[in-house]
Amino acid sequence: MLFNPRILIAEDESGIADTLQYVLRTDGFAPVWCATAQEAIAQFVAEPPALAILDIGLPDMNGFELFKRLQALPGGAEVPMLFLTARSDEIDRVVGLELGADDYVAKPFSPRELVARVRTILRRSGRHANGAPATTPAAAPSQAPSPGLPFAVDTERMQIRYYGRLLELSRYEYGLLRLMVQRPGRVFTRDELLRLVWDESSESYDRTVDAHVKTLRAKLKAIAPDVEAIRTLRGTGYALNEELPPA
Ligand code: CA
Repeated sequence: MLFNPRILIAEDESGIADTLQYVLRTDGFAPVWCATAQEAIAQFVAEPPALAILDIGLPDMNGFELFKRLQALPGGAEVPMLFLTARSDEIDRVVGLELGADDYVAKPFSPRELVARVRTILRRSGRHANGAPATTPAAAPSQAPSPGLPFAVDTERMQIRYYGRLLELSRYEYGLLRLMVQRPGRVFTRDELLRLVWDESSESYDRTVDAHVKTLRAKLKAIAPDVEAIRTLRGTGYALNEELPPA
């Protein structure tokens, strides 16, 4: 296998998540574990997975709601999703509501069976028979430079290079820039950025976003003084400039 398909796991029980990650990794997948729905949404936006496994009983949002939110995201309708359910009434809802989820697995489940199910869904969807489609960033190695852009994001080290130079970023600056680099030109409202980059729990306001974008811009300017990498859309939010001088 040339690359490891990224599998997003939204599951708050670490024991289950550990088992899932272990069997998926053993089978050549790249699992990404999120303990909350908010985190899962942020991960999904940053890099849509080949498939998502959603627990229904999540602490901040139920799996049905998360499913709908993910489906509504750009590319979300293309990503197969699998529910993990603990109760038979939840199974009834999955089947009864005909949400369009690709499958469900009832807890307790056999890890082997679950991986087999994941493989079947990916094969059936036909989009990943030989790997993810070229348009899915999941197929990109973690250090791949963004095509045509002077950024190279290393998700494993949580580092970003700009015109070949390593940026010294805070956690939030990294989160903001990574999100924007993944979707050049896409306008993110301050609300979206708060939701996707900051924790739900933290006290944050629109001005928090502005303050971090300001420091981020200063760091980008220090490397390329004449380049305006982040555009401000008055009253709306921010977007990465799609037309940057090549690296
Ligand atoms: Ca749970």
